[in-house]
Amino acid sequence: MTPAPAPSAADLATAYASSITQEDLRKHLSIIASDEYEGRETGEKGQKMAAEYIAKQFKDLGLVGPVQGSDNPYVQHFTMVRSTWGNDATLAIGKQTYKWTTDFLGYGRTPFATETTVQPVFVGYGLEADYAGKELKGKDVIMLISEPGMNEYRSKIATASSKGVRSIFLVNFTPGASFTATTAPIAAYVSRPTIMFKDAPQQSGGRAAAFIVTPAVGYKMLGTNEAGITKYLAAAKSGSQPAASFKPASFRIKTPQNQQEFVTENVMGLLEGTDKKDEYLVCSAHYDHVGVIKGEVYNGADDDGSGTVSVLEMAEAFAKAKKEGHGPRRSILFLTVTGEEKGLLGSEYYTDHPVLPLAQTIADLNTDMVGRTDKDHEGKGDYVYVIGSDKLSSELHTIVQNENKQHTNIDLDFRFNDPQDPNRFYYRSDHYNFAKHKIPVAFFFNGVHADYHGAGDEVSKIEFPQMEKRVHLIFYTAWDLANRDTRIVVDSNKQ
Ligand SMILES: [Zn+2]
Repeated sequence: MTPAPAPSAADLATAYASSITQEDLRKHLSIIASDEYEGRETGEKGQKMAAEYIAKQFKDLGLVGPVQGSDNPYVQHFTMVRSTWGNDATLAIGKQTYKWTTDFLGYGRTPFATETTVQPVFVGYGLEADYAGKELKGKDVIMLISEPGMNEYRSKIATASSKGVRSIFLVNFTPGASFTATTAPIAAYVSRPTIMFKDAPQQSGGRAAAFIVTPAVGYKMLGTNEAGITKYLAAAKSGSQPAASFKPASFRIKTPQNQQEFVTENVMGLLEGTDKKDEYLVCSAHYDHVGVIKGEVYNGADDDGSGTVSVLEMAEAFAKAKKEGHGPRRSILFLTVTGEEKGLLGSEYYTDHPVLPLAQTIADLNTDMVGRTDKDHEGKGDYVYVIGSDKLSSELHTIVQNENKQHTNIDLDFRFNDPQDPNRFYYRSDHYNFAKHKIPVAFFFNGVHADYHGAGDEVSKIEFPQMEKRVHLIFYTAWDLANRDTRIVVDSNKQ
């Protein structure tokens, strides 16, 4: 009798991929995306319950808890600060006093917990060029805004923050623009607490606080009037960048916040590799969601319950392979992070405090929303958006396509790799914190749908057959990355 031929690597991958089933995905998702888990909001009870559930799965699968010095080696705890604006904010320019919410509003972490005298510097529209030749570290600036929107605010805050600015005062002088419309994009954030790392510096690397003021306040702050502004706007429109002749007035401001510390956690399990165990592949997803809003539980079944249970199922498949003598050559870290919905905070914390060396981390495969269909693909068959795989490593991009061709045959939609795409998805989930450190990433995503960040993101609407195929593709990609002879090379740096 001759021994049966050893199964090929591809056959093995197929055997273990088949252990990832819709039934198992549904079983886990029906638990973590149930009302009992209260929408898994960062720092809240439901998030802790989900953390406990995931940690137990990793433990039961026989994965190693890699977190040193933690009460639970599968859990990386860290402290955050939740800041809520008080109602006793004051602003006074000369003899005139102004009212919080009617005349000015704030966003971010306050630099003015006690009354402070501020001498602002005018920086035009707050564009990169407006800062040229100015040393503004720790200073306060006043700038104009013409197209209020969250992206506009974010980019102005980011630019100011990169200059080390302490606070920015924004004013919209566009004729006819109402203060309500100008503040609308930010209003929801003003009433909800801001969450930041406890150790986040207020300036230099931290985020500048932003205040929006009414035109009436803006005139006073700039030491001008409507005629002065009209003249300025006309000149700015004609293309010439008028040197600002404004002489901003100093003012007194107090905007206290209640600050409350809380602890949140990333949860992870490590499957040790064989001959290349000092190299690590990360399979990530965020397990937090947005919690309970106006008494309604937002279950986040797709966002990102779907990614979380995909990570659990891939962990199970690889653990099974290892038990049967077919464990991966490289180690794999199954990483579920918190704080994504608050600004990719859990993955930022992980990459700033890595449990395994980043230099030895070969790639991150991130799964965020893989259980639904977006409008563009309705009735068009199986697909998944793959984002970012071509940015740092051409090999990774090729591997995803080869694995799909060999095994899953779904439509790979790469449209969001276009740097001109306004959605900027490449920057909007946890893989970006790895990419920032030049670690190749691939982000698997079904696109947004009507229930995105809505109360209707429920398990009952998840399309498990489609989801299973997507998870298989991610698994095959992971299998290839973890078992290939040479580590994938970082050979590009695309935006
Ligand atoms: Zn998400």
